[in-house]
Amino acid sequence: MAFVSSGYNPDKPMENRITDIGPLKYDKFYPPVIAANKGKWLYHEILQPGVLVHVSETGDEVYTVRCGGARTMSVTMIREICEIADKHCDGHLRFTTRNNIEFMVDDKSKLQPLIDDLEGRKFDAGSQKFPVGGTGCGITNIVHTQGWLHCHTPATDASGPVKAVMDDLFDEFKGHNMPAKVKISLACCLNMCGAVHCSDIAILGYHRKPPMVDNEYLDKMCEIPLAIAACPTAAIKPSKVEVGGNKLNSVAINNDRCMFCGNCYTMCPSLPLADTEGDGIVIMAGGKVSNRISPPKFSKVVVAFLPNEAPRWPSTVKTIRKLVETYAAEANKYERLGEWAERIGWERFFEKTELPFTHHLIDDFRDPAYYTWRQTSQFKF
Ligand code: SF4
Ligand code: SF4
Repeated sequence: MAFVSSGYNPDKPMENRITDIGPLKYDKFYPPVIAANKGKWLYHEILQPGVLVHVSETGDEVYTVRCGGARTMSVTMIREICEIADKHCDGHLRFTTRNNIEFMVDDKSKLQPLIDDLEGRKFDAGSQKFPVGGTGCGITNIVHTQGWLHCHTPATDASGPVKAVMDDLFDEFKGHNMPAKVKISLACCLNMCGAVHCSDIAILGYHRKPPMVDNEYLDKMCEIPLAIAACPTAAIKPSKVEVGGNKLNSVAINNDRCMFCGNCYTMCPSLPLADTEGDGIVIMAGGKVSNRISPPKFSKVVVAFLPNEAPRWPSTVKTIRKLVETYAAEANKYERLGEWAERIGWERFFEKTELPFTHHLIDDFRDPAYYTWRQTSQFKF
């Protein structure tokens, strides 16, 4: 298949024209057994943690082995993944939305050699490169964002806390010990390119201080109208300041209106808001996307602030372990974390998880709080 145009011919301008930029159509990459059975699958089963079988009405079967990957991978790692796919799966593999890698084989005899190969690959220090798991009533990989590695507005790191939390929950990735699926996610600022708004447990990076205004450089580096327009709460207005005897164009921030989103910094590098004491982690819980048992739910803030504690984030790891252990011990079978909290009541959720309930946790946005508050005329919870 030709990936690029063989050259522009002015007489036939549409010949070999690439009409779109982006990934090629997904069905070009189907394993043959998937392509041949499209729309014919009867059922699937989880044979053991990390291993699924899909059975087609034609009698064909596909065995899928899911193993943990990482959001940010080296070229060496991706080459090794391709080598495994070439060796066992005729070159086919897929990534799940939570950065797991799935290798598929079309015959049961190919399954165990694939599992053994994956489980046997180790890093030099002895940890597993491709642990098999992440299915069903276990904890699957944590989907996360860019963090300090790449993005400009993070309030916490992404890969660092995720690695620390997943190391602690490794046995739950490899097993089926939970009442239902537990999805954990991380977004390193509240712009949330992770799925923190709808995960069972969510780790959210949060700034607590407004941007600092670098008056000396602001007018040279930024388009002031763009920075003002970027603010969703209209907290920025133009101002004139005197620096070194010169009158300069700059901006003023109304700190009481600022919600620390960092949008202005995206537009204007002279409005940084990263801050050692101000930045940290918010823990949210109880969200989900699935429609099973109850409708989808938003995650709710259950811990208003934890400090950034690189490199192993002990407070975050401890809090999430406590949440997971309490949920595993208390929830009914098939109940997601949010369904359990709603059944027993959020007051009891805080008692059982031993998390302090503070005024920071009360949802005071006008919408949708009017519909989600449990309230009387005397009390809102
Ligand atoms: Fe950047 Fe925010 Fe996305 Fe993190 S969540 S990568 S800080 S936009
Ligand atoms: Fe406005 Fe967000 Fe900047 Fe605060 S951080 S001034 S709310 S754009």
